[in-house]
Amino acid sequence: MESRTLCDSNICTGCKACINVCSKGAVTVENRTGFFAPLIDASKCIDCGLCAKVCPNNSPRELKDIIYGRQGWATDELRCSSSSGGAASELIREFIGNGGYVASCLFENGEFRFDITNDLSRARKFAGSKYVKSNPHLIYKEIKDRLGRGDRVLFIGLPCQSAAVQNVCGDCDNLFTADLICHGTPSVQLLRKYLAEKGIDLDKARDVRFRNDNNFGLVVDGNRLVCGTLPDHYTYGFLKAINYMECCYNCRYAAYQRVSDITLGDAWGQLADTDANGVSLILCQTEKGKVLIEHADLELFDVDMEKAMAANPQLNHPAAKPRKRDWFFEQIGKGRSVSEVTDKVFVKYRIKRLIRNLFEGRRTQK
Ligand SMILES: Cc1cc2nc3c(=O)[nH]c(=O)nc-3n(C[C@H](O)[C@H](O)[C@H](O)COP(=O)(O)OP(=O)(O)OC[C@H]3O[C@@H](n4cnc5c(N)ncnc54)[C@H](O)[C@@H]3O)c2cc1C
Repeated sequence: MESRTLCDSNICTGCKACINVCSKGAVTVENRTGFFAPLIDASKCIDCGLCAKVCPNNSPRELKDIIYGRQGWATDELRCSSSSGGAASELIREFIGNGGYVASCLFENGEFRFDITNDLSRARKFAGSKYVKSNPHLIYKEIKDRLGRGDRVLFIGLPCQSAAVQNVCGDCDNLFTADLICHGTPSVQLLRKYLAEKGIDLDKARDVRFRNDNNFGLVVDGNRLVCGTLPDHYTYGFLKAINYMECCYNCRYAAYQRVSDITLGDAWGQLADTDANGVSLILCQTEKGKVLIEHADLELFDVDMEKAMAANPQLNHPAAKPRKRDWFFEQIGKGRSVSEVTDKVFVKYRIKRLIRNLFEGRRTQK
């Protein structure tokens, strides 16, 4: 197939806006573990230019100043099943309760994909951070259809995906967007590979958790992969930014100015440091975002923005690419295991695991 690329693979975020607008099925976005390659099949392409027009790299969205910031949490019921303070889950509840639709990410059939719903019990599946690059498939098209029918839609996703939905749907009063403060994302392939090393088939898993309140670590169908207080290899690599997609190190949305109406994250450096149940940082860039927050059932407190930014570097700049990141993926490409390569990069982590396992072994022998 004769093909050309839509944007450079080191900046393609895999948002799939291009695929959503191509009526000829000429665009594919190949996921090559460490990066995305957006390819146009020249034999199908009719040069309409739509893919470039909606691509947030070719047509960047304007970023907006923060006009309002708070920290806080939802009711106990929602907070318990959420990763942070449950602000996203409360926004979802409130939005659907008022007749709207919500599009966000859930785990189903081995995939971290988007869905759109106005059914509250289905929407509960959105709760929880999935520290992996989610797959938007054709969600922007579905959202555009809903907006065309006069429905109100709230989109919650990664900042790159929020830019994509806005480019595909255009400026629309009925579209509300919330992005997550994002540290960076590994690919699903990497997660799948890691779990397979542990004897877990992602396609057969019913539930995958990445975090329980302020404790980070994979839990699959109730099985904790952590080693004592140490997170598993995948999560450790995530926290140390070694296993992200290439685009994450060049992310233009990891900045103080934001792409969405609302931005949600953790109130690190503030209440989240002392409250183990998770505390949300809530930022608004538009009046309509602020109205949503003020109507939600959230317990809200003032926030010190300087402290919030100091504790959350992704509000200033993307994660720095670790010196050994390319080597990490080279080794994975050669078929070495995620655990082995992570251990090689982070020697102190490996030693701590060894000591921990030694103690565990002694304890079980007694
Ligand atoms: C990859 C990633 C990196 C993050 N890095 C940071 C960080 O560095 N600093 C920080 O303060 N916060 C970060 N967050 C955000 C944080 O983990 C919480 O998701 C956020 O505070 C919302 O918590 P909540 O309790 O309000 O949401 P919940 O009520 O738990 O709901 C979470 C919402 O986020 C959506 N969501 C979860 N994972 C994904 C995903 N992979 N793709 C698209 N949508 C998703 C869900 O569908 C749901 O709507 C990150 C989130 C992700 C997914």
